[in-house]
Amino acid sequence: MPEKRPDAFANALEQLRIASERLKLDEGIHRMLREPKKVIRVTFPVRMDSGKIRIFKGYRVQYNDARGPFKGGIRYHPEVSLDEVKALAAWMTWKCSVADIPFGGSKGGVVCDPKRMSQGELERLTRRFTAALGDAIGPDVDIPAPDVYTNAQTMAWILDTYSQMKGKMVPAVVTGKPIALGGSLGRDAATGRGAAICTREAARVNRMPLKGASFAVQGYGNVGSNYAVILEAMTGARMVAASDSRGGIYSKRGLDPRKVLAHKEKTGSVVGFPGGEEVSNEELLETECDVLCPAAFENQITANVAKKVRAKVVIEAANGPTTPEADKILDGAKVFLVPDILANSGGVMVSYLEWVQDLQRLRWTEDEVNGMLEEKMTGAFTQVHKEAASGGVSMRTAALVVGVGRVADAVKTLGIWP
Ligand code: NAD
Repeated sequence: MPEKRPDAFANALEQLRIASERLKLDEGIHRMLREPKKVIRVTFPVRMDSGKIRIFKGYRVQYNDARGPFKGGIRYHPEVSLDEVKALAAWMTWKCSVADIPFGGSKGGVVCDPKRMSQGELERLTRRFTAALGDAIGPDVDIPAPDVYTNAQTMAWILDTYSQMKGKMVPAVVTGKPIALGGSLGRDAATGRGAAICTREAARVNRMPLKGASFAVQGYGNVGSNYAVILEAMTGARMVAASDSRGGIYSKRGLDPRKVLAHKEKTGSVVGFPGGEEVSNEELLETECDVLCPAAFENQITANVAKKVRAKVVIEAANGPTTPEADKILDGAKVFLVPDILANSGGVMVSYLEWVQDLQRLRWTEDEVNGMLEEKMTGAFTQVHKEAASGGVSMRTAALVVGVGRVADAVKTLGIWP
């Protein structure tokens, strides 16, 4: 029987409980942080290419904005659920706080199967979803960005629809948009780059040489592929395995991250890459390697999988890839795990830089953006690592203590009005 995977939001609440306990949070503040501030659920019609009308369901969960406007991606997937979007919105809140950028947290999703939809259908779905959200989004209110199966083009459609409704161009309403529309250089690769920086820092504090070290990536999409290409160039580490929704590939001698990407772009999958031995996604997680980077979805490293993980370092580029039970097992096995709210915060850090450029009509070079990302990422890593070392806790608990602690401070200081 397949192992039962816990609800993502239950995981998020359990993590919040652990952080609240360590922070000795007031019970009332803890209760406030357990609930999203606003949950928006919309249904809307889209005319499909066949001429038929289909009704879609979409969500936007605005979790907490005590530290600034809500910020979070939009996901298109057949299994999007309110539970999942709530969890992702909570994690965005702690993530923006760990990154120390002036945003709260939110997340959105539409239940659909983008792989079976044409560009025209996706455009009409995006525009109608944007119209349904109306003034719930905006540059000072809530700023969407890409997530799983949404991209810069999706953001362009949101930007255009929102701007048409406002009668003026409002580039700062979304981040992760095309450069031509006010997107930031460096945003596309920022999440992968941030995760690569975290890997370098994790190796440094563990005195683990990365040159020639092996790594495996689950989910060779935007985040996973950029991570692999940048980590190899930055440190000389060698990718031994990669996977996507169709399966995985393995080679002890190493796989060229750029060539694997080119193969995926050409054929739609990493599977079939010349020189790679086929492996399942589960086998990939159990691969013998120094660094394991889950970069696909939630709940991939379950308790059963965790017992078989052989990596010394886990870099959570995906959101919520490890269940709380698995977390305990990895912790017990002394695996150094860099948690999602730190490891994948490079994306929202550069989203913040994009938003600032839009609001101030500035343009920074890619080197300037990467330089600021490097400084912010190493700063956040160092702070979390210090907290872990001084408290004798895991990097996950330390990141939550830093993230939840700052949000709790803001909530408490704002007070309750009226
Ligand atoms: P993406 O759509 O570009 O890539 C997802 C990849 O995962 C695809 O290659 C897909 O084939 C693969 N995949 C799907 N199901 C899989 C499975 N069962 N096993 C292995 N691979 C599977 O999405 P992305 O933007 O790269 O996001 C990946 C993860 O990173 C998500 O958890 C997302 O929330 C998180 N994240 C993304 C960003 C960002 O800037 N894009 C920022 C922070 C966090």
